[in-house]
Amino acid sequence: MARVLAIDIGGTKLAAALVDETGSMLRSATRPTPRTDVMVALAALIEEVTGDGPAPEAVGIGCAGPLDLAAGTVSPVNMPSWRGFPLRDEVRALTGLPTMLAGDAQCMALGEHWLGAGRGSSSLLGIVVSTGIGGGLVIDGVPLLGPNGNAGHVGHMTIDPYGERCECGGRGCVEHYSSGPNLARWALANGWTPGRPDGLDDPAHALDGTAGAQNSTASGQNGAADARALARDAAGGDPVAVAAFERGARALAGMIASTAAAVELTKVVIGGGVSAAGPVLFDPLARALDDVAGLAFVRAVKVEPTTLGVRAGLAGAAKLAWSQSRTAA
Ligand SMILES: [Zn+2]
Repeated sequence: MARVLAIDIGGTKLAAALVDETGSMLRSATRPTPRTDVMVALAALIEEVTGDGPAPEAVGIGCAGPLDLAAGTVSPVNMPSWRGFPLRDEVRALTGLPTMLAGDAQCMALGEHWLGAGRGSSSLLGIVVSTGIGGGLVIDGVPLLGPNGNAGHVGHMTIDPYGERCECGGRGCVEHYSSGPNLARWALANGWTPGRPDGLDDPAHALDGTAGAQNSTASGQNGAADARALARDAAGGDPVAVAAFERGARALAGMIASTAAAVELTKVVIGGGVSAAGPVLFDPLARALDDVAGLAFVRAVKVEPTTLGVRAGLAGAAKLAWSQSRTAA
């Protein structure tokens, strides 16, 4: 049975899968992204997935950006050991197969278009709202990658030209308002005390402005001050947590309406860890879109949560590989 090798590379996890033409994952594996010698770990992962079966026809890779598609190199922000790393050539040399490269969020969008919530959409924006905000466009079924592979960087669209400075160097980027850490940052600065969904003031915590930051690594505990805890508290009615999501959703709505106006989006699919917040994100997002969008075709854009979840990136990488395989045939 024909198959391709799909690879998804992020700052915390490497994933690979063998995928057939219908999108079924025949075999898959993941492992943590090491701080150094990432290529050694990736080679072992590829061997684990492809080792004792028939060779795949092509390879598709989705990798955290930025990238330079013309050169086939990647410089993922969260992977300091890769700067201008020739990923495409390295994987091509390792496997001996035609190899396609795209951004991880571009692959998420392509995967949702192929198998998920974006199926049938003629103009799709996929958004990953997580530690940062990434995105990808699929227009008439084809991923819009851009000359250097950086199209779809919607997280760094300016939604407030008078806004605060973003880590990218720009000003008023949507990521600065709506990413997981920035939702939590704003909430903490405005009096959110994690794990107190009744919203009551607690003098013992109110005076301790560092409590959240200290606890931010204690995942799964009541004191964690991350976006997951914020979503839980917003669902429980904590007014500051609710306000944080409303503010983040409003920034996302500005970006979505602007992108819709630029390329006549018909659908937006939102994935990433923050999208798991559910109605506390999607309800205020729908209200904000209704407020900021004017033109009928902008108002018509449909916004839905991911249906593939973390598998969307691998699905898109597989689709990239299949397109390469057909081109080569
Ligand atoms: Zn920015």
